[in-house]
This record gives sequence, C-alpha cells and structure tokens, in this order.
Amino acid sequence: MFKEWYQDTAEKIKAQLAKIKTKIPTIEEKLPGLQTKLAQIQVKLSKIKAQLVKIKENSKEIIHRNTNKTKLFLCDQGQKIRQAATGFVSKLPLQKEQLKYAVLTVALLLAIVSGYSVYAYYDSFTYVVYLDDQEVGYVSSETLIPEFVSALQAEESEKHGTEVICKQEVKVVREQRKGIKEDDEAVKRLLKEELDFGVYAYLIHINDQPAMAVASTEDYNEVLEKLKEIYVCEEDNTTVKSVVFDDKLEARRTLVKPQEIYPVDKVVEILCYGSDKRETYLVSRGDSLWTIARKNNLTVDEIRQANPHLQDSDKLMPGDELNLIVSEPLVSVVVTQEEVVKQSIPYQTKYKDDSSLYKGTSKVLQQGKNGVKEIKYRVTEKNGKEIKREVLEEKVLQEPTEKIVARGTKKVPVPAGVSGNGRFRWPLAVRGTITSRYGYRWGGFHRGIDIGVPVGTAVLAADSGTVTHAGWHGAYGILVTINHGNGFVTKYAHNSAVLVTVGQYVQKGQQIARSGSTGYSTGPHLHFEILKNGSNVNPLSYL
Ligand SMILES: [Zn+2]
Repeated sequence: MFKEWYQDTAEKIKAQLAKIKTKIPTIEEKLPGLQTKLAQIQVKLSKIKAQLVKIKENSKEIIHRNTNKTKLFLCDQGQKIRQAATGFVSKLPLQKEQLKYAVLTVALLLAIVSGYSVYAYYDSFTYVVYLDDQEVGYVSSETLIPEFVSALQAEESEKHGTEVICKQEVKVVREQRKGIKEDDEAVKRLLKEELDFGVYAYLIHINDQPAMAVASTEDYNEVLEKLKEIYVCEEDNTTVKSVVFDDKLEARRTLVKPQEIYPVDKVVEILCYGSDKRETYLVSRGDSLWTIARKNNLTVDEIRQANPHLQDSDKLMPGDELNLIVSEPLVSVVVTQEEVVKQSIPYQTKYKDDSSLYKGTSKVLQQGKNGVKEIKYRVTEKNGKEIKREVLEEKVLQEPTEKIVARGTKKVPVPAGVSGNGRFRWPLAVRGTITSRYGYRWGGFHRGIDIGVPVGTAVLAADSGTVTHAGWHGAYGILVTINHGNGFVTKYAHNSAVLVTVGQYVQKGQQIARSGSTGYSTGPHLHFEILKNGSNVNPLSYL
C-alpha cells in the first residue's frame, strides 16, 4: 500500500515536471528578478524542512497508532509540499538548471519523508510473547519460545515420572511495537519462573471449597467409602440403616501440581481428623488418663475430647492408641442405625388387707420379680457422637411379677387388766438423764425424748398393751412398739436386745428390752416416744 502510494506520488511528480517543462519558454522571459525570488524559495524551503522534521516526529507516533491515518496525513503533507514547490516554480521565470535543482530538492525531501515512514513502519514489527494474554516480552524468532516451553515440559515430565501439562497459555504473535528491545534470554528466564506444569487430578471440594486432590475418580470413591467406614461400628445389637455426608462433597477435574496429589489413606486421615499433624499415644502398663495427660502437657478433659469413644467406665489397656489432639473433622458423617436393647421392668408392690393379721403387721405373700422388655431405638450419630435417639418399638419379653404383701387389719385385742389407762410410768428401771427433749432440734423434729443410760439398762413398758413391733427398724435400731388399745402407742428405740414378741400382751412396768445404742444413735440412750391417735405428743406431758 505504502509503496504504491510512493510510486504514485513519484509518477505525479514526473507528470508535474513534464508540465513544468512546457512552461520553460514563458519562464525564460521572466528571468529578471529571479535572484530575489530564489531567495524567497530558499526561505520557503527551510520552512518546509522544519515542517518535515515535525512530520518525521509525528509520523513515528502516528504510524504506531494508525497506519491508515498516517498514510492520509503523509498524502496530505506530500500534497502540500508539491503545491508549495510547483506553485513557486509555475509563478517564477526559472533557469532550466535552477529549476531542475529546485525540483530535485523537493523530490529528495519527499523521498526522505516517505522513505523514513516506510522504514519506521517495517522496523516496528517484532515477536510479542503472551503469557495467559499478558504481554511478557519480545523475542527475535517465532519458534524460539514454543521450543523452549516444550523442552521445559519434557524436563518436568521426566522429573515427576508422568506427563505434565502447562497450566498457562503461551502465545507468540508478530505485532508492531515501537521503541522496544528484543531479549530472548530475559523472556526465557521469566517463563522458566512463571510457568506451572501440572497433571489432571480430581480436586475434592467440600461445600464448594477446594480441599485435596486424588489421582482418579476411583481414588475419590474409595475416600468416600473409607470415610463412611470410620464412623460405622456395627455391633450384634445394631443395624446400620444409612451413612450420609452432612457436607457437600464433589471431585472436580483440575490441573494440579504433581506433588499436590495425595494417596487415599492420607486424604481420609486429613478429612477425618482435620489435620495431618495428629499424634497418637500408645498406652502402656500402668498408664491412666491422668498420667498420659501429664506426660503430654494436656488435661484429662482434652484427652477425653480427642477420644470421644472413651467411656467413663473404660479401662485403658496396654497397646490401646489414644489421640492426642482435639480434631475437628473437615467432613461430617451422619450414621443412622437401629439398636435393640433389653431393659428391665421394675415390679409393682400390691398390698392386700388381711384380717387374720394384727394391724401394723404384714407378710409377703409373693416375691416380686422384674420383667424384661426389648426396645428398638433409632440412633443418629454425627462423627461418632450421638445426636438423636428415638424409640421405634417396645416389646415386653417378660411381664414383671408383682410383689404381694398382706397387711394386717385385725384389731389388736385388749384383754381386761392389760389395757392402758392413759397414765404412763417412767420407761426405765433407773432415772437416767434427759439428754434431748421433744421438739425441734438441729433443723429437724425430735419425736421423743432421749434418756441417757448405760447399755443393758432394763427398758419397761410405760403402760399395759400389745407388742406390735419387736425388732430392727431403720434408724430406730432395735425397736419395741406397744399399742395400748386406748389410742396411745409407745415406742422404745436403740435397744441392744428385745425380750418380747409381736402380739404379746405386756403389763405396765414389765421389762420389754435392754437399752443400747443401735440404729442412728450417738451414744447409749433410750429414745422414747408417745403417740396419741397416730400423732406424736411430748412424752414429758404424760409421764
Ligand atoms: Zn431420740
């Protein structure tokens, strides 16, 4: 294009010259005054020269930006120069030689302008190297860089023992650039540093976040299976119903560095324990959680947290392996299983009134026996920790046998002469010392009086009546209870021996027991109570 324009312009100048020649006779007539005109031409030419310098400057910039525009600009400038030259020449009567000189000067200047432009245009082409669409340098040859990248790729493949692929795109394009320097070695150095070679692998994403890469989809599936297995512990009484991930897991085919691909077991360990820096401790003879914690600068609680499978009741066995860090799994596994457990059903106690037994006495007619039921639970565990337990089914395998107790209703007969008369004697053969009175004491209520006497002191019936209790009775220790048949009942506690039997009639003042310190007692004494119509009264008011 440019060449054509150049030739075209030359042709036009030639034609112009031919025209000028025809005008030579007229010019010869106008020779006078030529000297001054020539001087004018010289002034004009120097102006044109200055303009040309400017054009040169501009054209460099303009060519770089827009060749077409530059062409038009140069055309325009050429036109102007031609007009200027021919204008003067046509107006002035020039000598043949002088005219030639003038025209040649103009032509030469034009040639300089055009030639420089052409030179500048061709000089601006170079090989631009792009790394992922980013210009990184200029090189002298088109093939240099592709060859260099291939060599790097081969070198990396050899190093990793597997075919690697360049992760970035390298392009070499012939383009115009202005004022640049081609530097093959600099571009090579940069590429060697910047280029990443990788292999296609399966990058596991957890909830859309990239985690770790495995070599194949088979490896990925194995990771999933193994992760599930870790939390499934099937026992005789459990059935696994489902194992699902609580996180979104996905393997995406991605170019990764060869050293970023992990073997299945490593991936499982990291996903499960959240860290590959897990430490374990091998339990040896004599170890306890406390000694292990102390040896490892941990607390017992921290060890328990790191080993959720440990039960309080578990004994550590030599050879057991304990985790020494609290691990937060990267992937949550939810296991749902059914568990069948046998539980005992406690028996109920049923009382039956028995008129053949005295009131206040009882007899076991049938021993109770706990029943057995089978319960089916649905247990949901997340990473081995129970998070939900529902009862699915309850089946009674064996009904409990109730305990049947006969309760006496027979009124205690009060024969003449032994019935109490409501007046009571001192319940001991000796006076003794009252060590505690009836009423509130030590935040509780003292239902009787305490009379301090040595062990073995004779305990006497405070009034006539029927013995309704003779034997051990909880905190009372060895107790004798007498029903006096007139609404009054007396109790004699903490004895060392009983001398009467249930149902026996006793006379007022008859020895019924030997004092002692049995049951809830702080020292040898008799604890004596009087009940009136079932309620305790202050014995001292009746003695
Ligand atoms: Zn007492």
